[in-house]
Amino acid sequence: MAGDALSPSGRTPHVGILALQGDVREHAQVLRALGAEVSLVRRPSELAAVDGLVIPGGESSVIDKLSRAFGMQHPIREAIAAGMPVYGTCAGMIMLADRITGAIDGQETFGGLDVVVARNAFGSQVDSFETDLAVDGWSGPPVHATFIRAPLVSEVGPRATALATLPDGGVVAVEQENLLATAFHPEVSGETRFHERFLQRVRAAA
Ligand code: GLN
Repeated sequence: MAGDALSPSGRTPHVGILALQGDVREHAQVLRALGAEVSLVRRPSELAAVDGLVIPGGESSVIDKLSRAFGMQHPIREAIAAGMPVYGTCAGMIMLADRITGAIDGQETFGGLDVVVARNAFGSQVDSFETDLAVDGWSGPPVHATFIRAPLVSEVGPRATALATLPDGGVVAVEQENLLATAFHPEVSGETRFHERFLQRVRAAA
């Protein structure tokens, strides 16, 4: 419903997708279907024009290098610290983590999320899989989650909250104030509830 898409100010929420590398188009489709105005973000001026940011899946070491080359690391860190709603999937979750394991030499993150994230945690044998997850406090059908060379949250710090776990207890979705992160890709399986949760924050912040 169009009315649902409006922020309290009556303005359509304007979401940016960090478009340095990764599955940008899939996120844009989901967010537009949910009523957001979407633009691609590669420059500080483009970041300054949006109310919230999605960091897509892809390859975190490449997103890291390109974000520094494009002068985006500091602006994104500042936006996170200033409370901009940010949603990271897979490589995007890695980019939001304060601490990571399995990084390549010199790899950095934007940080903000009080977690340790292990890159490529599922190994090469099962580097992709799909499963249904129950999310704490959500009614309705389970989340159908697609994991692609996915990370795992190996430690949840006191400021972050685990949202969803695998049957073995592995944490695969977390949130902390303005930040939301999933190790899997809801945007490829028609699961829109995480994007909706992110958009609620964007509307509140807009
Ligand atoms: N393994 C990738 C990385 O380390 C993440 C994979 C993904 O985003 N699908 O960045």
